[in-house]
Amino acid sequence: MSVLRSLVESLRSGTVEIVDLTAPLSDKTPILRLPEPFGNTIPFRLEEISHYDERGPAWYWNDIHTGEHTGTHFDAPIHWVTGRDGDDVSRVPPARLIAPAVVLDFAAEAGKDPDFLLQIDHVKAWERANGPLPEGGWLLYRTGWDARAEDAETFLNEGHSPGISVECAQWLAAETPILGVGVETVGTDAGAAHSFDPPFPCHSFLLGHDKYGLTQLRNLDRLPATGAVVIAPPLPIVGGSGSPVRVLALVDR
Ligand code: MN
Repeated sequence: MSVLRSLVESLRSGTVEIVDLTAPLSDKTPILRLPEPFGNTIPFRLEEISHYDERGPAWYWNDIHTGEHTGTHFDAPIHWVTGRDGDDVSRVPPARLIAPAVVLDFAAEAGKDPDFLLQIDHVKAWERANGPLPEGGWLLYRTGWDARAEDAETFLNEGHSPGISVECAQWLAAETPILGVGVETVGTDAGAAHSFDPPFPCHSFLLGHDKYGLTQLRNLDRLPATGAVVIAPPLPIVGGSGSPVRVLALVDR
């Protein structure tokens, strides 16, 4: 049987499960808040054009108002000054949008310390137990933060949310074969990362090395440590620095 036919059979029979890693997108979706003097993004919003009424008797449709970096979304290299000559979302190669993924679970640590930072030694210990990080694959970093995603205040937590240390971000970007990092928090960097050196190291190093970010993921607890395949295609916004994205994982059952 062809690989694709086998995949379709497996999806139908449930031996391959699709796990949705995406947060619903609405005007309640938490968004990043940067301090003065920085610019900020807008909340997601629907603006009704017609709803089976005189504006359109048989049809319902909306305009959407959104930032590129709203809800579950994809960071392209061009999002950061270190990647300014890199790809925008429309130029990210499609072959990189379906990729293997591993899950590093630090929910217990982040539960005790909201400012918990992933270190190189944590990743190396994980590799000793689970094997190497995947070539061209996602490192999905579970912190349990998805449990807070329905409430913007606890989700943003006054700027205290887990992330990745400067040294680890640099190492992941420059020394490992990963495609990018996926997180459950509002951005790939820790809440306190504005004061790191360099600021926002995950953005700075990963996007500067032609790698990507995925944010506001959920259901990572339903994935195995290794073996999942993630489908994460951003909209091809020409010149776009990021895009809301539906992230799906395929998992062997
Ligand atoms: Mn972003």
